[in-house]
Amino acid sequence: MATHVGEGFDGPARHNPAAEPGQPTAGTFALDPHWVEQLRRHAICSPRAKTMDTITPMTGRVLARLPVSSAEDVEQAYRGARAIQPAWAQLPVRLRAQIFSRLHDLLLDRQGELLDLIQLESGKARYAAFEEVVDAALVCRHYARVAPKLLAPQRRAGVFPGLTRVEQVRHPHGVVGIVAPWNYPLSMALTDAIPALLAGNTVVLRPDPQASLTALLVADLLARAGLPSRVLQIVLGPGPTTGAAVLEHADYVMFTGSTATGRLVARDAGARLIGASLELGGKNPMYVAADADLDRAAEGAVRACFSSAGQLCMSIERLLLHEDIADAFLERFLTRVQSLGLGTNLTFEADMGSLISQAQLDRVEGQVRDALERGAVVLAGGRARPDVGPWFYEPTVLTDVQESMTLCRTETFGPVVAVYRVGSDAEAIARANDTEYGLNASVWTRDGARGRRIAAAIRAGTVNVNEGYGAAYASVDAPMGGMGVSGIGRRHGDEGLLKYTQVQTIATQRGLGLGVPEGIPTERFAAGMTGVLRVMKALGGR
Ligand code: NAD
Repeated sequence: MATHVGEGFDGPARHNPAAEPGQPTAGTFALDPHWVEQLRRHAICSPRAKTMDTITPMTGRVLARLPVSSAEDVEQAYRGARAIQPAWAQLPVRLRAQIFSRLHDLLLDRQGELLDLIQLESGKARYAAFEEVVDAALVCRHYARVAPKLLAPQRRAGVFPGLTRVEQVRHPHGVVGIVAPWNYPLSMALTDAIPALLAGNTVVLRPDPQASLTALLVADLLARAGLPSRVLQIVLGPGPTTGAAVLEHADYVMFTGSTATGRLVARDAGARLIGASLELGGKNPMYVAADADLDRAAEGAVRACFSSAGQLCMSIERLLLHEDIADAFLERFLTRVQSLGLGTNLTFEADMGSLISQAQLDRVEGQVRDALERGAVVLAGGRARPDVGPWFYEPTVLTDVQESMTLCRTETFGPVVAVYRVGSDAEAIARANDTEYGLNASVWTRDGARGRRIAAAIRAGTVNVNEGYGAAYASVDAPMGGMGVSGIGRRHGDEGLLKYTQVQTIATQRGLGLGVPEGIPTERFAAGMTGVLRVMKALGGR
């Protein structure tokens, strides 16, 4: 097996001819200040608000100066959202759905601006940004189609057929508070808000400071699609202050971020006895079985490990290779990894973009350094690339990773994957499950039924067979979310909409009451009821 210790990796800079070592393309990525000013108007912030700078990972320079919403601003956002909520909930679902159907088209029409902004805020490659546009459009289309039926009152079986009429009715919670992370500026700002709004809630959204401009552009598009003002209120600022204030006032909480912060959010929601949906971290495995199509698996593994520079909650960070094909797979995989191009272009040229921040680069470098000091071996990558951009890191493949190394069990959230060899499907399943996380997993085999059997034995909210993450994530008709410490609740699927509702049972008793009729001894009535129960079971009663 070839060992490439970070060598032969000269592809990236060719995509960014302007970038000399230590000389990022300063000034290339500026935004029109008037446009930023227009977008700022969608945020609830007092005129004398403090400000924060959004830094673009493309250059490490300031992209925009944005206001920070104070605690009073958050309260004002909630007042507005609460005031309009009953009227919004009374609008027929069909009319609410039309807004998101129009938004679907606007997202596709205006994708150029969206892609630029997502790339500038996150530093990711343009195709990874495009995946967000696709995701947002899919979620708009899906819930606009299914919401009217899912939210309609449903008849249920009554205790006495014909005498007890039972209906299940869904009500919105009120105002949903959403705190969104930075890694998917469009998807995370919008796709959880869509079902919340369709269900008749209003929303107060706090996008991450590093994703705020994209969220403000989303608010602009929603207004153009016909969303009445105050139905979606956006506040800006850091998580521990603005984010915490948003969650404190919410009637239902939607949080996406790390497991550590998720625990704090869950604790506070528990104390207030409100519902919460938590989408948290992962340490996701991919198993390549002995009969896998190795070319397809290698291509899929590259996307699954390095899309958005690994800053995707569903990213693969553990590669479990059947020993019979491990060498042949690695040959194909490493060739592809080493030909990936890094770049800061606002075009589809680069394969992989930047990490989001210095903190994220420090985390990735720290974990790799720790692993190498303790005996891990680099098969590809393993270096920062300041010549491309300040926070770039090469797509990195490690082997000989041991328990003593931090990255063995800790989420990296960067472009680093560890390779392990296994001797059987059973061993692969055991290793896949040897983690406290349970977000996503991937299995590669030519035998679909075998793949599904292995998948069902893996403890993860989504398992992709012959795909890394996209098949499950993009199939928005099916739920996605975490088992174990990867979360509580689901986005997508029926669950992703219904969680934003409280269900109410309305039972109408007709004719006979449920009490003992006058003049009949209770004992005789109980005996009669016992007979009725036996008959109802025999007749197949529910
Ligand atoms: P983080 O928990 O530090 O921050 C996540 C978000 O929460 C940020 O926007 C932050 O500003 C905010 N926040 C921080 N403290 C808060 C508080 N006390 N109250 C309210 N909000 C607060 O996580 P991170 O490291 O910035 O993000 C990466 C993590 O997010 C990874 O673990 C990743 O797996 C996870 N993630 C999960 C999903 C998913 O769908 N499961 C999606 C994206 C990211």
